[in-house]
Amino acid sequence: MNFNEIKALDESYVLQTYGRNQVAIDHGKGATLWDTVGKEYIDFTSGIGVCSLGYANETWAEAIYDQAMKVGHISNLFYTEPYAKLASKLVPAAGMAAAFFGNSGAEANEGMIKLVRKYSFEKYGEGRATIITLKNSFHGRTITTLKATGQDHFHEFFFPFTEGFRYAEANNMDSLMSAAGDDVCGVMMELIQGEGGVNPLQKDYVQAVAKLCAERDWLLLIDEVQTGVGRTGTMFAYQQFGIQPDVVTFAKGIAGGLPFGGFMTGEKCRNVLRAGDHGSTFGGNPMSAAAGNVVMDTLTPGFLAQVTEKGQYLRDSIAALNSPYVSGIRGMGMMIGVGIQGTTHKELKDKLMAEGLLCLTAGKDTLRLLPPLVITKEEIDKGLSIMARVMK
Ligand SMILES: *Cc1c(COP(=O)(O)O)cnc(C)c1O
Repeated sequence: MNFNEIKALDESYVLQTYGRNQVAIDHGKGATLWDTVGKEYIDFTSGIGVCSLGYANETWAEAIYDQAMKVGHISNLFYTEPYAKLASKLVPAAGMAAAFFGNSGAEANEGMIKLVRKYSFEKYGEGRATIITLKNSFHGRTITTLKATGQDHFHEFFFPFTEGFRYAEANNMDSLMSAAGDDVCGVMMELIQGEGGVNPLQKDYVQAVAKLCAERDWLLLIDEVQTGVGRTGTMFAYQQFGIQPDVVTFAKGIAGGLPFGGFMTGEKCRNVLRAGDHGSTFGGNPMSAAAGNVVMDTLTPGFLAQVTEKGQYLRDSIAALNSPYVSGIRGMGMMIGVGIQGTTHKELKDKLMAEGLLCLTAGKDTLRLLPPLVITKEEIDKGLSIMARVMK
């Protein structure tokens, strides 16, 4: 099918909930993609931080195929090897105690919210169920995670939302203290606000929040749906902030392109959710878990060091463009935000796409780069030369 045929079917039969790029992607290899007319693109998106091993990774594809030919799905009423093996790799790598597997970021955050409320209820009783989240955050699109998201425009239309969320300014302990109260059970945050504009939190602030949580027996809830599983150069971003969460969520990059997500708890709250308290039909699906095992086996210390190195190279090279459109560069590892001035982030994204480079946007004025973690130096340089041309 050509682009116009695909688009016509979309417009006839699919809800128009996305502002799609006017391109239909056909196939890819590594960090390079081709559309339906054979035009080549360097990919600085990984979907949205999902395809950590790039496109058409053979080890990944074979693991999924092999698992599909054994048993593609069976319910969580049975044990299977792939999810058990994945947990045995993920949990120690995170310094956590136990994992729960679901399918997406929002679902992972929902589970984390259920956990903190049950923890608090069992220990302190009713009236202590409020979760403090940060302004400009993003936690998902379900009714509850929309409300957890600290941006007013996500709180329209879909009333009534779940109660029990209060918002504090990021990097501001006074603001957190004014949101504090006897009704609080936890603080939930991203360490780099992704959708909000690729804004890393300050390390001393994050540590102060962790300390306050420990003092008040609030659970420290870290949303690593975007930052997790190698994206920032360590397995999880909190490992660079010198904190250990009580619960951490992950999703996007964990299975390299199959739907997968979940959360891990520390020792303190590993027994809060018990049989019957939580579940997911597709959670821990054998094919997704098999893919997750390939991702985890790829993320060796040497590989993660390369993520850090390539991310630094990208940031340095973008700075060296001396583009009048760049107002600043933020991020960690291969999660990079480029502040845009003199044009809009969306217009620039479209111009880069026309020249063969795919980027994302975030916040009001940020070009967001989330290249596949396996991107080669040659692919990065190709992308940079397109940036140099378009942004001079
Ligand atoms: C993408 C994202 C989510 C939502 O994940 P879905 O898989 O789309 O439900 C939640 N939190 C953060 C930080 C994200 O980046």
